[in-house]
Amino acid sequence: MTVLRDFVADLMERQGAAVETLEHDGLAVIAPPEIRAAFGWPELARLGFGAELPPAAQRIGIEGDWLDRFGALLADRGRYAERQIVLDSPPAVGDPERLLGQVLDLPNAIWRFHSQRTTWTRCLLIAFRATAVSDEKRESILWMGFNIGTGAALGNGLARLRAALGDQSWQAADPAVRAAAGPGWDAATLEARVRPTLDAAVRAELAPFLRSMQRRLGRDQARLHGYHDDLRRESLKRLLALDGVEGAKADADRQREQLRVAAIEREYRAKLDDLSHNYALRVTVDWIQTLEALVPVQRLEALIRRRKGERLIRLDWHPLARFVEPPPCDWGLGLTATRLVCDERLHLTEPAGQGPCRGCGKPFCRACHPAACPRCGRPASEGRADAVEPGRLG
Ligand SMILES: [Zn+2]
Ligand SMILES: [Zn+2]
Repeated sequence: MTVLRDFVADLMERQGAAVETLEHDGLAVIAPPEIRAAFGWPELARLGFGAELPPAAQRIGIEGDWLDRFGALLADRGRYAERQIVLDSPPAVGDPERLLGQVLDLPNAIWRFHSQRTTWTRCLLIAFRATAVSDEKRESILWMGFNIGTGAALGNGLARLRAALGDQSWQAADPAVRAAAGPGWDAATLEARVRPTLDAAVRAELAPFLRSMQRRLGRDQARLHGYHDDLRRESLKRLLALDGVEGAKADADRQREQLRVAAIEREYRAKLDDLSHNYALRVTVDWIQTLEALVPVQRLEALIRRRKGERLIRLDWHPLARFVEPPPCDWGLGLTATRLVCDERLHLTEPAGQGPCRGCGKPFCRACHPAACPRCGRPASEGRADAVEPGRLG
């Protein structure tokens, strides 16, 4: 628990407390009065973080509400940062053609390497917390990343970049580097790019949780059905035995069994309702943190040809994390490599972005016609549960 201890020591010092370390991963803290009041600490608070506590120390751990209380002290500080990596300019890529060949998968177009240059780019890394609560609770941290300079989603490179950033020294951004990297996205672009990516990420993250929840729900429903079905069968059997029997006693027995069957059916429905209530799923997603990292890159340009059209696209090689990002994507999330190129304006889209219309069956480009099929007018999003907004043009 030394990570938590160091965090608390740092936080307390920033709040103006005097902090000393104690044996067994402990801290002695003389905190300002408002913190003492909020946390219920004495003037000299002794805090313990490990399995073994220093004498007379209070235990601080990630269980309980300590993290929430420390979080309240932090408020919104540390939620957004812009930092520049300290790194010499990367060397040129030795064999750019081969490198591009690894990430350009264009089944209906040809391409060739055009140029490369060293520059800076602005990478946007955003973290969200997704909390799903039904009969169980599951919390996950979801990261997403974009290269604002090229408009690309970082895809698999995101994890590598985050790992590489952790090993680097940082500094506040130099004005010249900031100018070379270009500005960040405005709110509308941010919303258009982040929302569909976040929706897909939450769905993918929760899929196993949903599956196991549905398994438990199915099992409980089957158990409920089995129990009530047995009871009902027994009653029906007794009713059958009374069939054709005459007399006041038989009539009374018949009536009693019929009431019992009705009661069993009522109870079964009520229990089913309870069950679906227990398993109702609530998902909340909160933004946690945004980091804009200004990183040196080698910017590769490739010329794409489709029929008579040509278009230059840009892809960055990230020497820091040693990956080349997926090609830009004008429609779809663009997390994987394959792109189809449209005839009219040479948009690059996910394959589904050039798929046939569900109305008339003719293929059309969703980046050219985001709202509806140009031939029959059928809405483009119809029948596509995970329909996404078109991405930014590269
Ligand atoms: Zn159509
Ligand atoms: Zn198009």
